[in-house]
Amino acid sequence: MSISPQLSRRIGVIGAGQLARMMGEVAPSLGLSVTVLATSLDDAAVATCDEVIVGDAQDPSALDALGESVDVVTFDHELVDLHQIEALESRGVVVRPSARALEFAVDKAHQRRTFFDAGLPVPRFLVVNSSDDPRLSSLLDELGDPPVVKASRGGYDGRGVLFPRDRHETLRMIDDLAESSDVVVEERLQLQSEVAQLIARGTDGSTALYPLVTTVQSEGMCVEVVFPAQVTNELAQRASELAEQIASLIDVVGILAIEFFVTSDGLFINEVALRPHNSGHWTIEGVRTSQFANHLLAVSGEALGDVTALCDNAVMVNVVGSDQPSSLELAMTVEGAFVHDYGKSWRPGRKLGHVTVLGDSAAQVHVRAWESARAYGTRTREA
Ligand code: ADP
Repeated sequence: MSISPQLSRRIGVIGAGQLARMMGEVAPSLGLSVTVLATSLDDAAVATCDEVIVGDAQDPSALDALGESVDVVTFDHELVDLHQIEALESRGVVVRPSARALEFAVDKAHQRRTFFDAGLPVPRFLVVNSSDDPRLSSLLDELGDPPVVKASRGGYDGRGVLFPRDRHETLRMIDDLAESSDVVVEERLQLQSEVAQLIARGTDGSTALYPLVTTVQSEGMCVEVVFPAQVTNELAQRASELAEQIASLIDVVGILAIEFFVTSDGLFINEVALRPHNSGHWTIEGVRTSQFANHLLAVSGEALGDVTALCDNAVMVNVVGSDQPSSLELAMTVEGAFVHDYGKSWRPGRKLGHVTVLGDSAAQVHVRAWESARAYGTRTREA
């Protein structure tokens, strides 16, 4: 087993999607190199990284090959087998965030239970593995309205999150999802909005809190991110306090993104991601140190960068493939638009890129960001 240096210069990323691609874009300016574990040479991050290992994120030999060629391993996604990540750690590979921390993002049941036990605000919930669970009918009676039914593992972008219309459908959906994982049944809250708080945490426990943003969802997918968040100062303050608490509870190293529900009873935690997050793409242009730079600095054991906003307003819109292939050139003609293309082949429903616009006027950045995203050919609409 090799003793790892305090500072890690060679970063290995499990997964090679757009997040790894954007890590690869910033790494050279930080004096870091990125090796990705890609499923194929067509993956988005292959174009920006220094080295590529082709293999499956759930194949132990591919993980070993990555671990052996870098100083620290981190993640582009959480579709991993935690036992395999633990095995990697036990063989002396430095993994940040750790397998123990990552469980909060991989397993919604673990997240809900641990946060509830710590007194953190989560919706009322129950974890079951079949609709026969004797505790289920009292929860459903207590809630009155139909709940939200979620696969504890394996879901993303709204997949694995179901909204039954009645009790019959609730029970059927629980049994469908229970075939592949435990199921979280939780109160369907009346949402005023949704916000996301990003926090970077270093190996020494130091933290940097990004400004809070509002996230706008459509069909379970984030379509737009707005800075500053459209909430009161008290609520923004509460989000930062909760983020500090959660980051230290999880003992995360790297970026932690926390999605919150805003309700008339205050904030409730929706979910956490332990990697750069869609709600932080605007930080590439809008904040002094982007989420991608701070993630790499944190997992390398270096000091975190300044997270002061560089603008009064920012809007980021995701570009999602529509029925027709998209056009980048038109999108770039919109004044002030920073257009990020992920280099992926076009497919309806696929996230192909994003557009960020910064400016003095909230209304103007909103209009311009959507103008550019529409020109790009996004299928999403303003919610
Ligand atoms: P994913 O893990 O696929 O990103 P989420 O758990 O974030 O899915 O849920 C997707 C969306 O569904 C949320 O952004 C929110 O709009 C809605 N949603 C999820 N849980 C609830 C809930 N308990 N009450 C109301 N809406 C919810």
